[in-house]
Amino acid sequence: MRDVVIVGGGTAGWMTAAYLTAAFGNRVKITLVESADVGTIGVGEATFSDIRHFFEFLGLAERDWMPACNATYKLAVRFENWREPGHHFYHPFEQLKSVKGFPLTDWWLRYPTSKRFDTDCFVMASLIDANRNPRYLDNRLLEQEFVESDDLPNTIAEYQGAQFPYAYHFEAHLLAKYLTKYATDRGVRHVVDNVVDVGRDERGWLSHVDTAEHGRLAGDLFVDCTGFRGLLLNKALEEPFVSYQDTLPNDSAVALQVPMDMDKDPLRPCTTATAQDAGWIWTIPLISRIGTGYVYSGDYIDPEEAERTLREFVGPAAADVPANHIKMRIGRSRRSWVNNCVAIGLSSGFVEPLESTGIFFIHYAIEQLVKYYPAADWERSLREQYNSALMNVMDGVREFLVLHYRGAKRADNQYWRDTKIRTVPDSLAERLEQWESKVPDAGTVYPRYHGLPPYSYNCVLLGTGGIDVRPSPALDLIDEKDALAEFQAVRDKARHLVRTLPTQNEYFRRMREG
Ligand code: FAD
Repeated sequence: MRDVVIVGGGTAGWMTAAYLTAAFGNRVKITLVESADVGTIGVGEATFSDIRHFFEFLGLAERDWMPACNATYKLAVRFENWREPGHHFYHPFEQLKSVKGFPLTDWWLRYPTSKRFDTDCFVMASLIDANRNPRYLDNRLLEQEFVESDDLPNTIAEYQGAQFPYAYHFEAHLLAKYLTKYATDRGVRHVVDNVVDVGRDERGWLSHVDTAEHGRLAGDLFVDCTGFRGLLLNKALEEPFVSYQDTLPNDSAVALQVPMDMDKDPLRPCTTATAQDAGWIWTIPLISRIGTGYVYSGDYIDPEEAERTLREFVGPAAADVPANHIKMRIGRSRRSWVNNCVAIGLSSGFVEPLESTGIFFIHYAIEQLVKYYPAADWERSLREQYNSALMNVMDGVREFLVLHYRGAKRADNQYWRDTKIRTVPDSLAERLEQWESKVPDAGTVYPRYHGLPPYSYNCVLLGTGGIDVRPSPALDLIDEKDALAEFQAVRDKARHLVRTLPTQNEYFRRMREG
């Protein structure tokens, strides 16, 4: 199990190579082969807050990698127009407080102290409205109580239940480049060539890949990071793909990279998802440009119309920028690990990027691969545990994403009306009924680990506004004094932080100037 061949040099391939090197050092020999002719997907710039464990595991501080990747901070996803035009709400990286055993959102439904649940229940919402940075100019984190890296556990699994207050935006190709150097400096062999054939032994296990110019690459374990192609897992091993398209119909995207000037344009510390006639547009602010794209369903509009809509949305800055049209494969491979082949990245599975879960899936998969790494006997149970962990994560995220569309109050055209009558996964249908009489809590969200805590479901339900949720009847019988004091504490803390934290522009200008 000492010889690993990774095919594919996108975000998935290089994250895997770097992480395995950090985990195993030179006890495992790693070769990564990537094609110069087949490009990477070129998008994938917004992350989950767990990603910081990836960099910590590699021993990289923000000051090492962030400037090299034009990275910025992300405090939340901002949803615009999902309820009605002009409305927005945040899904922030901040745990929801409870008062007397009930989530603050439940109290808010009973005692709505303003029209906005997000600014009343979460400190972050006001910070993002004011474009605040999560660190002070001297680099301290916004909260005293968030302990810095050395004291924190460094895998996602150990970290469940806690919430770090931010994630990152970065340029995907710069991150791949950065990780290429990291991995090759530590001994990973890098082959730039096309894989033209995949060899199997008499049991049907992979034995080697043939390249056009570098001959045969043999290995014990093969990692398929070939993106939507699934060259090893889906093509060579014929593992079927389970589509999610019946519940998540968006199957296409068009993306633009729009130049921006940090000295003039505000660097909003969040990813924005703006609802459109046949999907939604993402906006991701980076140091020197904005990454933006329209995710849509090809059943409702064609690529030309999608591109036109995106260009109008961006305005004159998009005029000379080429568009990247992408067809998306939505769903997951039935099993991500078959025999001696593990698919990581888009080859394993993908849901639309509404909650930035693509890189989270990759990170989680790599951690699980290390956790369930096989010995020479290829114990079957290790693969099975890995496969169910990955399946749970992707199926759980699918449920969460479906909730955004089912919950959206918007129903002004066929696309949005269909989101109200389309099939939802069975288990979600049951939960939707429960949530009408009680906001989500740990007992009523998707029960297996999928990266999303109950407060995420609260945000989406209350923010999208199309499902009628009521406060728990018990709140009529409990003194509300402490809950009202907590709302006041959130307001006070937000006011203090907005006053004292710099804007993202100020912070990164200072970083640039050293
Ligand atoms: P790819 O980038 O497609 O890389 C495939 C690699 O395989 C390439 O290096 C290619 O050269 C190589 N290859 C293919 N065939 C061969 C061959 N025959 N021989 C040799 N090499 C070969 N994720 C997030 O977390 N946040 C986001 O905001 C986000 N936004 C997204 C938006 C869109 C529209 C899409 C489609 C995805 C988004 N994702 C996002 C997902 C994210 O982009 C991917 O998870 C990530 O880029 C990983 O891609 P990959 O490495 O699996 O595949």
